Amino acid sequence: MIYLDNNATTRVAPEVRDAMLPYLADLYGNPSSAHTFGREMRRAVERAREQVAELLGATDSSEIVFTSCGSESDNWAIRGALERRPDKRHIVTTRVEHEAVRNLCEKLEREGCEVTWLDVDEEGLLNLEDVRAALRPDTSVVSVMLANNETGVLFPVEEIGRIVREHSRAVFHVDGVQAVGKIPIDLKNTEVDLFSLSGHKFHAPKGVGALYVRDGVDLAPFIIGGGQERGRRAGTEAMPYIVALGAASELAHNFDAHGTIRHLRDRLEDTILDTVPNARLNGTRERERRLPNTANISFEYVEGEAILAQLDDAGISVSTGSACNAESRVSSAVLRAMNVPYTAAQGSIRFSLGRYNTEADIEHTLSVLPPIVARLAEMSPHK
Ligand code: PLP
Repeated sequence: MIYLDNNATTRVAPEVRDAMLPYLADLYGNPSSAHTFGREMRRAVERAREQVAELLGATDSSEIVFTSCGSESDNWAIRGALERRPDKRHIVTTRVEHEAVRNLCEKLEREGCEVTWLDVDEEGLLNLEDVRAALRPDTSVVSVMLANNETGVLFPVEEIGRIVREHSRAVFHVDGVQAVGKIPIDLKNTEVDLFSLSGHKFHAPKGVGALYVRDGVDLAPFIIGGGQERGRRAGTEAMPYIVALGAASELAHNFDAHGTIRHLRDRLEDTILDTVPNARLNGTRERERRLPNTANISFEYVEGEAILAQLDDAGISVSTGSACNAESRVSSAVLRAMNVPYTAAQGSIRFSLGRYNTEADIEHTLSVLPPIVARLAEMSPHK
């Protein structure tokens, strides 16, 4: 099997699995307990917090709060900021956010908030002048993703943060779920107030995430209960998962083969665009403005689902846009926002590489894909 769907989720790294297993067996104490069992757990939680802080370039590990997933982190960031600023009901976000932000903002809009939805251009890029123009005295939150899950397009969050800070008093939230583990992050020298991540996107198991809350940022708790996470997120700590997130963060921090992934992605992308008729790239051609692992390519007049199914039969896993959209059969909101024509959007395939991919995986995919697309194009009623 060749797995080219690392933006949907990643394999749990063996190092991460080994680190968490003791916490599913003998190490079962509650970190809030005062006895030896509990104290050992507390040490493990704090070590994991330091590992995540190190990966993000946080100033202090106390800025990291564990959550259950990226969606929780996103929801908490936006709702928590709004709750503390009841007189400010304006939100700024983009049309290409993940559903965890987009659907929440649509709901908040229905509940009486006002949302400014920033457009992107045909390459998936934001106009920073639009960001500045959207800011108002009553803007409570600006929420922008760092890396787009479908196209890999990167938003310049450092610059956006400076604009937000200079022209408003809004809280600046960044959905970093797709970026962590794929590009270096260094939050301490930015204006980012809140930053979401999710473990399963970088080789931890599903069911754990974190929210970075810059020291001094006023954020209401999302889950109310006991005093865990210094009263910011109640619930007995999910020990095996928190330890796993720490181990995955350390693994990501020490990973030095991003260049190899980039090289494999470039080879895949260049060859497809050069050799497959009617193939077009979705997202900017300026590769330094995209994640190094992602290539989103449309095969015009061909159904993406059909390509996906035939690649799957050949043992190759890819995605048609966002995994959450796999059942809904409407063309992706991200590609619509980029004005990708329907005939191309329907034929879009996202290839997302990871640390376990090899040159052989890419060469095999390049031998299997073109005949599949050619056969489907031959059968297409549109051609
Ligand atoms: N944000 C982005 C950009 C994502 O890609 C995803 C998942 O695909 C999420 C948020 C949600 O993360 P989770 O699956 O951990 O809830």
